[in-house]
Amino acid sequence: MSKELLSVVVPCYNEEETIMPFIEKMKEIEAELPQLDIEYWFVNDGSKDKTLSVLREISTASDSYNYLSFSRNFGKESALYAGLEHARGDYVTVMDVDLQDPPELLPKMYHIIKEDDYDCIGTRRVTREGEPKIRSFFARKFYQIINKISNIEIVDGARDYRLMTRQMVNAILELKEVNRFSKGIFSWVGFDTYYLEFENVERTEGETSWSFWSLFKYSIDGIISFSEFPLMLSAIVGLFSFVVAIIALIFIIVRALILGDPTQGWPSLVCIILALGGLQLLSLGIVGQYLGKTFLETKKRPIYVLKEEKINPRGDEDGL
Ligand code: UDP
Ligand code: MG
Repeated sequence: MSKELLSVVVPCYNEEETIMPFIEKMKEIEAELPQLDIEYWFVNDGSKDKTLSVLREISTASDSYNYLSFSRNFGKESALYAGLEHARGDYVTVMDVDLQDPPELLPKMYHIIKEDDYDCIGTRRVTREGEPKIRSFFARKFYQIINKISNIEIVDGARDYRLMTRQMVNAILELKEVNRFSKGIFSWVGFDTYYLEFENVERTEGETSWSFWSLFKYSIDGIISFSEFPLMLSAIVGLFSFVVAIIALIFIIVRALILGDPTQGWPSLVCIILALGGLQLLSLGIVGQYLGKTFLETKKRPIYVLKEEKINPRGDEDGL
């Protein structure tokens, strides 16, 4: 009987220094999982350094190293999708190459998914040491907000690092949206997920490609992709200010009838006009965000464009 296959999907963006340490580490893990065949899918997400040459080189070393290389930087979410699309394993794991997703958890994850009835073993960081305090604060707030206003649930500190069954991967691949917010997608497809906890690990080499601003945009994308609450909020605020305006109008008419009509109140008028104008622009902005996303989705552009790939045949497919 042939062994079960585990696919490891690894997005790489400017990771020339981290790929080799990652491979060395994974060799130790492979030794702990002799019951599995392991294939790798490195996805070069338009790196500007020598990542692609490193991938080319390692792919000659063993048939288990496959790679896909994009024509430009499409973002980690697209890289994950490409990897999942190509993965052929009975189980698939997605893992960062910088060793911040500890590979030593993998054997444990595999045992849990095998023995208990789970479809997915996720991981979450219980500490955020080594991360700027302000970033941790906003990250926590983001999780609180998105869990409240959307119908998906994202565990605080959940990483993309997870081990999934083929069935779950197929479900994820059914979601072909261009604006991919993976954390939401993993949760949206459902299935039973068990979360393993671990302490934050700092990057080994290289630098994170996330700035505060890009994280902020990422969270807004997440909210827009999985919640209609902001739209409803603008409607509620609009209704509220309308009702307040009507009440104020009645008050002013009654006061004018009783006390006469001294021409007063232009400063308050200016304030009201500014406040309402601001609210209108804000609502328009919210609607615009959704419209923009809809516009991009309706174009149905591909999620990524490949420039180069190396796909090794699987051991049992090429008749060996
Ligand atoms: N990554 C990617 N495309 C990008 C940005 C990042 O494929 O545009 C990959 C990166 O190579 C790494 C993973 O996504 O394997 C996580 O990136 P990073 O370490 O920068 O994020 P952090 O761990 O700080 O969240
Ligand atoms: Mg990282």
